[in-house]
Order: sequence, then C-alpha cells, then structure tokens
Amino acid sequence: MQKNIVLFGPPGAGKGTQSDYIKAHFNLVHLSTGNLLRSEIRAQTRLGLKAKILMDQGLLVPDKVVIGMIETQIQQHRRGNGFIFDGFPRTVEQASALDELLMTYQMAITNMLVLRVPNEELVTRLLERGKTSGRADDQNESLIRKRIVEYEKKTLPVAQYYQRQGKYTVVQGIGSIETIFKAILDTLT
Ligand code: AMP
Repeated sequence: MQKNIVLFGPPGAGKGTQSDYIKAHFNLVHLSTGNLLRSEIRAQTRLGLKAKILMDQGLLVPDKVVIGMIETQIQQHRRGNGFIFDGFPRTVEQASALDELLMTYQMAITNMLVLRVPNEELVTRLLERGKTSGRADDQNESLIRKRIVEYEKKTLPVAQYYQRQGKYTVVQGIGSIETIFKAILDTLT
C-alpha cells in the first residue's frame, strides 16, 4: 500500500533530515515546498522572484502558488510508493487542497507526524545551520523567531485538521538523528 506522510514541525525541527531517512526507508518521493521554491529562485523564474520577497521576510507564500507546485509533482510521481510532504501543508487551505488532489488519484494521507522541539533549541539549531546553509533566513535571529511565530499562528491549525482525521502523531525531535528516526518508524510501521 502507498504511504503518504506529512512531516510537520517548526523550522529547524529536523524535517529535512528525517525526510531523507524516511524517503530512503520506504522508497518515497520527497516533496519539500521550501526546496521547490528555492530552486525557482535559483532559476530566477517570475514565481521564484515573487516568492523570494516573502521568504526573505519569513512570511508564507500564497497558498495558490505552493498548491500549484505540489499538484505538478503529484501528477508526475503518482505511480510510485507514495510521498513524504515536508514543509507542506502549512495552512488549512493547503491541507484540504492536498486531500482533494490526492483523492482525484484515489490516494490519501496515511500519516501526519509532528516533530516537537522547544523554541530555544530551534533558534540555536537554525543559527548554526545558517553558518553553512547559505540561507539568508537562517542567519538572522529575529527572522528565525518570526518564522516560528508564523508556524505557530498559521500552521498549528493544520495539526488540528489532521487530529480530527485521526492521523496525528507527535514524535520528540530531540536526541540523535538515529533515535528520532527510530521513534518515527515505530509510529509508521
Ligand atoms: P522551509 O524550507 O520549509 O523552511 O521554507 C522556507 C520558506 O519558504 C518559508 O519560510 C516560506 O516563506 C516558504 N514556504 C515553504 N513552504 C511553504 C508552504 N507550504 N506555504 C507557504 N510558504 C512556504
């Protein structure tokens, strides 16, 4: 059976790292809207240039933009073992659009995992990542805090959305990468 996993958590929770492990383990397609947007910026597309203005302020890009990007990816990879969604959906509108999209291909989200990490740990991790990631949004503490607030404001209702569907599990995102991955696998198998 296909696995379609939403990996959820604030910026710096380790979604990217754990997505790589989950992807390799279940042979899934990893879809990160942040990565898709950054490649649009590198390619200097209109979409990328518009998105950059919002991303540089730690704000979310419009739902329509990310839903469109995800739709294209789902169409391309729908015959695989499933998807791991990382950094998407970030609003309830995105979550319900994703459900509808998957439904058109007789698919559904199977699991939603939240990586829980205390805010101060997130700030420390992101500032550390900023030293090597080259991401401007990881190099400025007030921007990092703004992204965390944006997550709490807009994204937490998404958790409730999946809670209502009975698909919501919390995993502690503190500890070694391997320990966290093992805890994730325990909830998925
Ligand atoms: P990320 O790499 O997931 O931390 O995303 C970096 C930035 O891209 C975010 O701060 C947002 O500005 C934007 N972004 C990524 N994914 C989404 C999404 N699903 N909805 C809206 N904006 C997004």
